[in-house]
Amino acid sequence: MARFQVRKVAVLGAGVMGAQIAAHLVNCKVPVVLFDLAAKEGPSNGIVIKAIEGLKKLKPAPLGVAEDAALIQAANYDEHLGLLAGCDLVIEAIAERMDWKLALYQKIAPALAAHTIVASNTSGLSITALSAALPESIKPRFCGIHFFNPPRYMALVELINTPTTEAVVLDELESFVTTYLGKSVVRAHDTPNFIANRVGIAGMLATMKEAETYGLSFDVVDDLTGKKLGRASSGTFRTADVVGLDTMAHVIKTLQDNLKDDPFFGSYATPPVLAALLKVGALGQKTGAGFYKKVGKDILRLDPATQAYVPAGGKADDIVARILKKAPAERLKLLRESSNPQAQFLWAILRDSFHYAAVHLADIADNARDVDFAMRWGFGVSQGPFELWQAAGWQQVAGWVKADIDVGKALCSAPLPDWVFDGPVAAHAGVHTPEGSWSASRGSYVPRSTLAVYQRQHFPESVFGAGTVEPLKAGTELFKNAETRVWTLDGEVAILSITAKLHLISPLVVEGLLKGIEIAEAGYKGLVIWSPDDVFSAGANLESLMPVFMKLGAKGIEPEVKKLQDAFLRMRYANVPVVSAMRGIALGGGCELAVYSAKRVAAMETYVGLVEVGVGLVPAGGGLAYIARRAAEMAGAAPVSNWANADIMKFAIDGFTNAAMAKVGTGAIESRKLGYLLWSDVIVPHKDELLGVAITQAKAMFDSGYRPPVRGLFPVAGRSAVATIQGQLANMRDGGFISAHDFHISTLIAQAVCGGDVDAGSLVNEEYVMTLERKAFCSLLEHPKSQERIMGMLSTGKPVRN
Ligand code: NAD
Repeated sequence: MARFQVRKVAVLGAGVMGAQIAAHLVNCKVPVVLFDLAAKEGPSNGIVIKAIEGLKKLKPAPLGVAEDAALIQAANYDEHLGLLAGCDLVIEAIAERMDWKLALYQKIAPALAAHTIVASNTSGLSITALSAALPESIKPRFCGIHFFNPPRYMALVELINTPTTEAVVLDELESFVTTYLGKSVVRAHDTPNFIANRVGIAGMLATMKEAETYGLSFDVVDDLTGKKLGRASSGTFRTADVVGLDTMAHVIKTLQDNLKDDPFFGSYATPPVLAALLKVGALGQKTGAGFYKKVGKDILRLDPATQAYVPAGGKADDIVARILKKAPAERLKLLRESSNPQAQFLWAILRDSFHYAAVHLADIADNARDVDFAMRWGFGVSQGPFELWQAAGWQQVAGWVKADIDVGKALCSAPLPDWVFDGPVAAHAGVHTPEGSWSASRGSYVPRSTLAVYQRQHFPESVFGAGTVEPLKAGTELFKNAETRVWTLDGEVAILSITAKLHLISPLVVEGLLKGIEIAEAGYKGLVIWSPDDVFSAGANLESLMPVFMKLGAKGIEPEVKKLQDAFLRMRYANVPVVSAMRGIALGGGCELAVYSAKRVAAMETYVGLVEVGVGLVPAGGGLAYIARRAAEMAGAAPVSNWANADIMKFAIDGFTNAAMAKVGTGAIESRKLGYLLWSDVIVPHKDELLGVAITQAKAMFDSGYRPPVRGLFPVAGRSAVATIQGQLANMRDGGFISAHDFHISTLIAQAVCGGDVDAGSLVNEEYVMTLERKAFCSLLEHPKSQERIMGMLSTGKPVRN
């Protein structure tokens, strides 16, 4: 079978979703043409051009870097249908109207290539009904592809087939969406609102209803149903404001229009408070008012009794917050037994979610894992309803839910399905087992997908009860100390995992790194630095240096800093490649760890920067030596013998600015623009493929005859560049933009990246610049204003401006 190739994608509809999907395709290096209606006035592509402009300003940023908006090709249906012939995938994301969508499909059908997959991003319309109107030739290649807003950041994509969709189409799409777009796929049945919005919005409606029953205000509900409950930090009402109350109303209407026979139909009524807000056009964040309103710096909440906005900030009762920290079984028991209205409310919404999920499982999803994943990836919960239920004790919770249904406390009187109490689920005490997750429609446990794409994931995200091996206990252990583990999965590549809090780099981490390199050089093809959570490293562990500093002052610290620099040089010049597999933050020392690796493999959401100035210090783990060397490399863009073809100063100033302003990339793509990733590095869309790709890279480098870089000299920009930078800094200081201490720190950074008091073009080595870094770092440690910044950060976590 020929491989499914996506050379180009057409996105139809440049609205909220279409434009952002196009942006994400660009992030993932997929060429994209974005269509909308031809504008009635002005340039014919006016609608699309405006949407593309809008992408540059939207927050959170849909694009890796704003200038990439230029890569989206604009088109309209009147003039450019011919472009569709070159597209292997068409994603339709126009307004949610069946008649409009059908008319568009008729219009584009003749222009499509024979192999093209056509997929609708509809959130509420029936995919099968949409398919029915398609020409026969397209039907086998038509399906639903439901992204979540914002598509760059929300992991979930639901794929929905129709009775006429060819099986291979969904397999191909699932593989593409996973590896190339980094999304996590759940296959949904073609039922109203599919899985995540069905369960999620029903849950929000239930929450609104129970909040009224228990007399809780929106701010208290949000505090209770946010992070404390393991859900998205915006809780319930603020989430609705962010999504847009009109969008939410749309999803609710789909429930109301299509689910008349659903036993929960009664709970799909629009809550009066929501109806009132919709009526006055208060649609949430986009109109400036909804359940909340921001006035100046203050957040106000709506008081439904008076319809006035009053100060917000209500929080969960301490006792309830404490209960929420307990393990699931005890947590649910205490909530249920407590007489505190907040606790009763929480038990009620959890009960409703278990009840709802169990009653609908057979209808809306193939199995319970799909429901739990849909809720994790689409609604940002840490555990879906089934896994929480199972973790809290299946039978016990089932009994409690049944008791509430029996006495009429639940949302409806529909009983829990028989499979909850009898047969395999009862015997296994849950829906998730190592063999698979329960399928109520098939009456059996269903294993995970065997699609080849999942072989790329060594440790795929998994649900509670699935019995998956934890990465930090997997493979063969080669070395371990309190903050690192060196291990191997395949006997070919060694892996260093940092287990310290925030993966802060301490002497123990340095020990693990050196050990890892030694082990890898002796018998492996390379060393991959990877940890199973979403932090690469938040930097050097300043606290671990405190005792030495107290005893010996900055003099005692200097040798410690040198050890770190030496370790990074050891890594750079190791005889096997060290590959940093990055995800989440890589700041300060974490950034330095990455840039001294032979290669970086970074998940799309990786945030890299040298942020030391925030604590009144300068990068001193080789960060500035890296900038100095890179400036020379970029200026020369050629081997050592050919230095200084171009002006080093320009590149040195760019690097200087990034460090002096503590710039952090807002993703891997921007981090690359800042120079902390190279074009030869790999950006990996799917987080669960990161380790596999890093191992592959390490092996390929070794197998290609890897040698470390040659230690050599490179030219620096010298004292004249320092003077230029200082001139600009003085203007900023005199204009009141930076403080005298900022000026001082920035000057030290400039001196290091330009090589200090030497002529332009002087040749230096890395150790020389590292000495400048070290001296600057230690002098600042003794500076009272830097000490104030460090203490402030350690005690409050916030930067001190002085
Ligand atoms: P939108 O209103 O922002 O954009 C709709 C686009 O469709 C506009 O650019 C408009 O010019 C175009 N359009 C309108 N009438 C048309 C017609 N007759 N023919 C061709 N194009 C036409 O909508 P959106 O929020 O981006 O939603 C688009 C689709 O994505 C809908 O099916 C929606 O259900 C779905 N969806 C939306 C969200 C969300 O949060 N907004 C999330 C997931 C899925």
